[in-house]
Amino acid sequence: MVSGVIHQKNNFYTVRIIGNCGEFSAEELIAIAQIASTYGNGKITATSRGTIEIEQISPDNLEIALEKIKINNLRLGGTGTTVRAIVSCKGTTCTKGLYDVHALATELDNLFYGKTVPKKLKIGVFGCINSLGKAKSQDIGIMPSFKNPHKFELYIGGLLGNSPVYGQHIDIALNKEQLICAIKFIIEIYQKNGKYPQRLRKVLDANPNLWQEINNYLIELIQK
Ligand code: SF4
Repeated sequence: MVSGVIHQKNNFYTVRIIGNCGEFSAEELIAIAQIASTYGNGKITATSRGTIEIEQISPDNLEIALEKIKINNLRLGGTGTTVRAIVSCKGTTCTKGLYDVHALATELDNLFYGKTVPKKLKIGVFGCINSLGKAKSQDIGIMPSFKNPHKFELYIGGLLGNSPVYGQHIDIALNKEQLICAIKFIIEIYQKNGKYPQRLRKVLDANPNLWQEINNYLIELIQK
């Protein structure tokens, strides 16, 4: 199945469009609305990861709908055994935001979105304490460091779904370059040690040495 195409009940299809970390231009939304009314049932669903789904596309309309998505430069995706759409809060414009959340999310999207992983990996970027719960429910949640301005802290191994668990807070403040290295390292650990359908948390809890490896790596990173 093409990434971004989801087979649904009664042999219909949903297609998922990922924007720019939750942001869509007015032109993109107009194009999505036109595709939804012409080839779907006219309904559009917003997902918790800031993506948009066009509903109820029949098998006969699927190919042309995908063609229209391509012609309009819309990003089809956000499914499969991959790093999923990066989520960010409105911290760029929100008065409480402590840094340019969307710029960081976009950078991470360029670097990591779509990479193949054992099951799926969700990264979220948040601008203040008000999204602590969301940061804790990502495989990799990013929050500003409250003790070290202009730095970031990680929450690793959060899960929702049928076995919700909070991610573990790693109390090491990282600058942006270190943060990117850390995310790359964690994804590599997951890729090397995980087997479908394990999520990151299962992989790390099954081998506590991996938690230690991540911790050691982060300590080395800040000492360089
Ligand atoms: S988490 Fe904080 S910065 Fe982000 S949108 Fe909510 S209140 Fe604003």
